Amino acid sequence: MIERVYLNVSSPERVNARKLGADWDEIERGWWINLSNVDEFYSYWPEAVPSRYRPDCRPPYVLSDMIPRNTWYVNLRSAMTKEGWYRLRQKVYDKAGNRCQVCGGKGSRWSVECDEQWAFIEPGYDGVGTQLLRCLTALCPDCHSLRHLGYSSVVGRLPQALEHMAYINRWTDEKCKNYETEAFGQWARRSSMTWQFDIESIKAVLRPFGVDSSEVKFQQFAGHFIPQIANHSQDISTLEPTKQHETKAEVESPIEVLNPVEKSNSWRLLGLVVSVMVVCVLTVAIGMVLLQSSTPTVRTATPVAPALQPLDPALVRNIQEAAEDWHGKVTKVGRRLELDTLPESVQAMDEYHQLMDEADKYERPRRTLNVVRGWARRGIKGKKALRRLRARVKGLRKAREHR
Ligand SMILES: [Zn+2]
Repeated sequence: MIERVYLNVSSPERVNARKLGADWDEIERGWWINLSNVDEFYSYWPEAVPSRYRPDCRPPYVLSDMIPRNTWYVNLRSAMTKEGWYRLRQKVYDKAGNRCQVCGGKGSRWSVECDEQWAFIEPGYDGVGTQLLRCLTALCPDCHSLRHLGYSSVVGRLPQALEHMAYINRWTDEKCKNYETEAFGQWARRSSMTWQFDIESIKAVLRPFGVDSSEVKFQQFAGHFIPQIANHSQDISTLEPTKQHETKAEVESPIEVLNPVEKSNSWRLLGLVVSVMVVCVLTVAIGMVLLQSSTPTVRTATPVAPALQPLDPALVRNIQEAAEDWHGKVTKVGRRLELDTLPESVQAMDEYHQLMDEADKYERPRRTLNVVRGWARRGIKGKKALRRLRARVKGLRKAREHR
């Protein structure tokens, strides 16, 4: 029996594919070989075989990238112009022959999507973790939905994503459920840490695609991304989206340009010495500032301070619980409002919760919630619903002021 395995063959490589025995499928528009020939084909041309069929790859083939909340809005896509990103994306697609690099499949509405694969090195001596860009891959929408379980859950597609996860990784439903819990736990843990980007890793990934450095706003990746957890009791849903810290001192500090991959040992040693000095100076400075100010402020802590304090396990637990609770809320609200994209919906989510809390102060609790549900039933969802909610709360606020 013939089972077709679709390959990642770019257009200029089609002659080689033909020579190695691959066939062109005109309807599916892709190069394929029979499953029984995969091992032989792989020995000649490993890069063309999607990872799910590679003899040296074992499941799981796709796991979720749990991007910490503090760096959610910081990615290549947002650091480039729309045209620049589209051009780069197209190069990734072309290289993969417009086929998923995991399963060889493609989507029904569009073939593939571009996935930024990040790696996370958890905080070391300086209390700051490093987020590195590993590669850009073309994935079919189904496989891509597994890479961002948070997003899938926001748009109400988590069950479908988990179903595909079971299929692609050859997992049982129970294993998928366990993984989901584990992944969101990991996300909560990462969200409680301070991160910095390894800008060199981003440049290294972009180089083979011929992207000019001037096309990317690298300053977006500079600085520390600290967790927005102000105190134990604060609900995670009321926190503001992380602001970027771009003070001159931070950008110039040697901790920011730490590159664990390419630096020579002497440079690394020098970096370490300078970092320790900077940390000492900052500790003294922060100490002095704290001594001088009699009223402690919660939200305006300097970005470096949390990195220096070891995390209290009770606080981490608290954050995890809050994150789970928040995740539950996001899922519910996401389904109700049917928001379109992740950055918008998460921002919308924060605003939504703030407005709801405010509304509860002005009128019978949950009254506004019922109103919003009514809108959703009548098809008023997403941005439209949020606009209405804003107007409603404004009205309630005014009515309270006039009373
Ligand atoms: Zn796929």
